[in-house]
Amino acid sequence: MSVPFFDIKLQNASIADDLKAAVNRVIDSGAFILGPEVEALENEIAAYSQCKYGIGISSGTDSLIVAMLALDIGPGDEVITTPFSFFATASTIARIGANPVFVDIEPDSYNLDPAKIEAAVTPRTKAIMPVHLYGQMAEMDAIMDIARQHDLFVIEDAAQAIGAEYKGRRAGSIGHFGSFSFYPSKNLGGIGDAGMLVTNDANLAARAKSLRNHGSNIRYYHQELGGNFRLDGIQAAVLRVKLKYLDEWTAARQRNAARYRQLCSVTGDSAGETFNLTLPLVLPDRRHIYNQFVVRSTNRDAFIVQLKSRAIGYEIYYPLPLHLQECFAGLGYKEDDFPVTESAAREVIALPIFPELSAAQIYTVATILSADCNGNPSERLTPSPDVSG
Ligand SMILES: *Cc1c(COP(=O)(O)O)cnc(C)c1O
Repeated sequence: MSVPFFDIKLQNASIADDLKAAVNRVIDSGAFILGPEVEALENEIAAYSQCKYGIGISSGTDSLIVAMLALDIGPGDEVITTPFSFFATASTIARIGANPVFVDIEPDSYNLDPAKIEAAVTPRTKAIMPVHLYGQMAEMDAIMDIARQHDLFVIEDAAQAIGAEYKGRRAGSIGHFGSFSFYPSKNLGGIGDAGMLVTNDANLAARAKSLRNHGSNIRYYHQELGGNFRLDGIQAAVLRVKLKYLDEWTAARQRNAARYRQLCSVTGDSAGETFNLTLPLVLPDRRHIYNQFVVRSTNRDAFIVQLKSRAIGYEIYYPLPLHLQECFAGLGYKEDDFPVTESAAREVIALPIFPELSAAQIYTVATILSADCNGNPSERLTPSPDVSG
């Protein structure tokens, strides 16, 4: 049985009638750019994220740009962030003319290591941009403490973490801005590019709203330079349909993760090789939403051979850390600058976790998870008899 890494068609097929009705509604209304569907989605995502305001934006990348523009971050400024993330986290900082300053990650959560942030703060530091990687939130209390001490803004790159929680607080609600992406492979995915900022600050919300629409509140009168970072009505209407199912889909991802943990401890390594697998660690006080289920292996190449031989999909997020990207050579970083990140980049591998996976598919993947994998035993469930699906 083959197991695709991800299959968006299954999810969309299950709600196809609702999706088509939503798209038709927008076509009939003629409100294609911003408009009532976008406003409704803004309110719904804000509420879902425990925030007062939502600002619909054209993508998760653009929403990071708008957040920084709204905080007056620009040339000469520094923004502290992680080198272990999707490219946009750092590229947006550079794109607005500021400098990304990287700080290494924690080995088990893969998120920004708060213990290493302070040493990177300079008089030019304006903000910290933590990423809630794979769907688990960064150590936000410690990050907010450092930000308060040094008078810095915090922009949560929550692109992978909608609905994730830290001590009961939702991703995006703790920093000055939270930024979401609705790229199709995110937990809440559109049928094209889309994103959103959330905030609890009325002034920041107003500024971001203006900036996403050419710095204009009244048509043809421009207070400042913004851009076209608008969200369109069709994406908003589709996302509103999907938002109703998000908790159900997240629960399915969490169930899939629990099954992997359970099966990992009871199945053998059929190839007789040791992959030395480590399962993802869920830290205390977190709601992990499993945008990705990422294991690590000190023998990743051999593990990949096994996956390929059984037609099991996988992805590597991310093979080359941001500080070593060619386009950032000018920042002056070099190999070994961030050893925790660099070893993660050599060892991580994401396995299929999407909600529609069948029990049999999970079992297929689990049969090649080695018996010696180092899961967090407290996370393991008692094996249940129905796992062979
Ligand atoms: C997906 C993603 C983005 C960018 O979102 P787009 O909607 O693709 O522009 C930014 N940061 C992280 C961590 C992401 O995973």
